[in-house]
This record gives sequence, C-alpha cells and structure tokens, in this order.
Amino acid sequence: MGQWRGIRETLAFLEQHLPGDVLRIPEEVDRDHIGTALVFELEQDGRSPVVVLERVRGSDLPVVTNLAGSRTRMACLIGVPLPELTARWGDWLTRLVPTRTVGRGPVQEVTLSGDALDLTKLPIPWHFGNDAGRYITGGIVVAHDPDTGVPNLSYARMQVKGPHRLGVSFHSRGHLWDYVSRAEARGRNLEVAIVIGVDPIVLVAAAARTRPGVNEYEIAGAMRGAPLEVVPCASIGVAVPAHAELVIEGEVLAGVREDEGPFGEYTGYCTGRSTRHVIQVHGGMRRRDAIYLDVTPGYSSEHLLLGRSQKEHAVLTKLRETVPSVVSVHYPKSGTHFHCYVNLKKEFEGQPKHAATLLLGLDPYVKLVIVVDDDVDVTREEDVLWALATRFQADRGTFVIPDMFCNLLDPSSRNGTSAKLALDATRPLDWRFERHTIPDTARAEAQRLLACFGQA
Ligand code: MN
Repeated sequence: MGQWRGIRETLAFLEQHLPGDVLRIPEEVDRDHIGTALVFELEQDGRSPVVVLERVRGSDLPVVTNLAGSRTRMACLIGVPLPELTARWGDWLTRLVPTRTVGRGPVQEVTLSGDALDLTKLPIPWHFGNDAGRYITGGIVVAHDPDTGVPNLSYARMQVKGPHRLGVSFHSRGHLWDYVSRAEARGRNLEVAIVIGVDPIVLVAAAARTRPGVNEYEIAGAMRGAPLEVVPCASIGVAVPAHAELVIEGEVLAGVREDEGPFGEYTGYCTGRSTRHVIQVHGGMRRRDAIYLDVTPGYSSEHLLLGRSQKEHAVLTKLRETVPSVVSVHYPKSGTHFHCYVNLKKEFEGQPKHAATLLLGLDPYVKLVIVVDDDVDVTREEDVLWALATRFQADRGTFVIPDMFCNLLDPSSRNGTSAKLALDATRPLDWRFERHTIPDTARAEAQRLLACFGQA
C-alpha cells in the first residue's frame, strides 16, 4: 500500500527511529481512565511518549494514545526537520495532491454490518473522571459537501450513547457544521464515516483549519508527496483511507438533538457546551488485527499540538503581510490556545505593539501576547520569561484592550468577551547592554567533552 502507514507500521517506524518514544504496557488494563492517567502522569514528569495498551480488558483491540503528543515525534513521522515544520505548510497548502481510489485496502479485511459493529464493545475509553461517559476522540469525521461533494475531514468529540448511537458536538461555524446545517435545511441526514487509526500525516491534515472547499485528503497527499489511497465505505457513499484501522459508518440525524457532555476540554475544564447532534451508526469496516487509536483529550500536549503547526503558519503568514519583521510565533502549551509568543526583529519603536494588536485581532482565542526580540527562542518558555524579567517595564510595555470578543470556553470570560493583554518585552532601540557570551571554540570543546563524558 505504498508508503502510507497504519498504526502498527507507525509504531515499528518509531521504535526504529525514536526508540525512547514508545511506551508499551504489556499487562492487561481497564479501558477506562488508564490511558489518560498514564499520559498525564508522564506529562507531570516532562515526558510525552506514545502509550500502547497492548491488552485491554474485554476487547481484542489494543489501544494507542498520545501518538501526536510531541512536536519532535510529529516532525519525524511527517518526515521534515522540526525547525521547518511550520514553514512547510506554505508548500503543502498550495500543492494539493488528489487522492487515488484503489481496488482494495487493509481496512476492508472485515466488513461489520448491523450488530457486528457494537460501539459498547469497542475499547472506547472513559477519559476524565467527570466526563459524561465514553468518548471517541481520535476519530476523523469524513463527510461530503451536500452541494459540491467535496470531502471534509475534522474532529469532533463523540459520546457513546448505545451500541449504534453517538452524541456529538461539532465545532459551531466549522466546515462539517456547515455541511450538516445545509443537509438539515433540506430535511436530510448527512452520511459520515468515522475513521480511526490512520497515518499520522492524515491526523495532522485533518486538524488543519483551511478555507472552505479544500479537501484535507489532498493536504495529506501534499505532505506525503504521494496520492492518499482511498476505498469506498461498505454502507455509505464516503471514501476513506485504505490503510485505516477501523471505520464506523453512519449518518448525522436531521432535526435530532440530545444532551451530550460534559467533557474535559482543551482549557483543562469540563464543559457541557455542545451542538447536541446525534449520529446513528449502521456498520463499518476494520483490519482483522485493528488497533484502536485514542487522542488524549483535554489540556494535553496531544490535543493542543494536533493543529498547532498549521495554526502557527496561518497566523505568522498573516502577521508578516503587515509586519514583515516578525520572525516566528509560538503558542506555548501552558497557555492552552490563549497565549502566544511573538519574535520580531524590531525596526521602530511601537512596532511590537503594532504586531501584538494585529495578532489580538486575528485570533480571537488569544488573550495574552508577549513580544520579544529575535535573539530569544519563543519555543523556550523559560527564555521568553527571561526576556520579560530583563527587558520589560510594566508602565510602558503593557496595554489592555477591554471586553473583546473571545472563545466561549475560557472560563474567566464574561458574556463572550475577555480583556486582552499585550506585553512588549523587546529592548529599546538605544539599548546599551550586552548579553554575556561564550567563545565559539569553547562551546565546541564543551560539546565534544559532553559527547564523550556527558551521558550521566
Ligand atoms: Mn475543512
């Protein structure tokens, strides 16, 4: 099947290229809470490996979670150097590669019709203690535009309501929500495939926020440099990746709404906000030796990183149209989607505030911007806070925009608005202080010594 990797092949690739990045648990464990607990325990310890639950009680499918929990790992799996990950989106989004329909794929090994697919028997986990139930989090929802037929890939949280029923919250104003709304306006259900376990490239492509009409399968093709191979579903007219592990087929019911949630969200809080849609499941397909892929939800690296590189590219591109001296932007994990660090080569006084104002207007999620000089690495939070410690004066370097439109999941927001804060931690242009330096020769010698003796 060409170079597209299912989950088993992805794990084998990682164990070869990043051996410390896969944590296998061979002991039988419960499907509920354990995967999530492991990922959060590891994060407390500054680690974020892929977690493989090889034996899950009551299921013949192993469970893999936190696959996308590290930028280094994702760059390796996509096949680009980490520093180029953000910039490469410029090529990927402009050189889309159409899919290729193939005769047969591993996902078609077993057809699941009727009762052969029972959602309650899959190892779909209960994640957080205060979630409403078990949730599919790593499922890519694929649907075709009811007018144009263009496929859309996106994520949604999906609560298991019964053997063939899911409660779902769509991102309101997202592309899928638009498809569902247009189908519903004609009284029609919308067919959807829920694709579980694909090449990590497809996972990242599905998280991209693009203009309407862009087929995320074609982004995946651009990222891989080869057409994504797709096959038709067994019971609905939707095409899915041939190498997928498991596909659940069904339709979003027109005019039906049911309570869904609460569920632990990216903010680190549990929320019951939901579009309250319902998916009726008809059947599906799977590999004989399928692996169930979970995405660790909530305030986890994996959840926050899936769409991050593309978002940083989009924000940077727009900022640079107006302020070309902006070098890079970084959304730190600690700020969930609400904090952004900006690096620029300052040419004029007031330029950092100009860039910060633009960013606050561009991304309604952002409520804190810190602008630093181009000698500060914005991907290193400690360095950004060092710049704040040594270059920032609160009376001149701060401004606040009160009561601005914001993301509704911010628990501190008031009536959908939030105060927005910008901090200018750049040096004044007439700055006279020099950072201490280490001679290049000494640095090279230190690196040599560490290579010999530094493996403590
Ligand atoms: Mn889309």
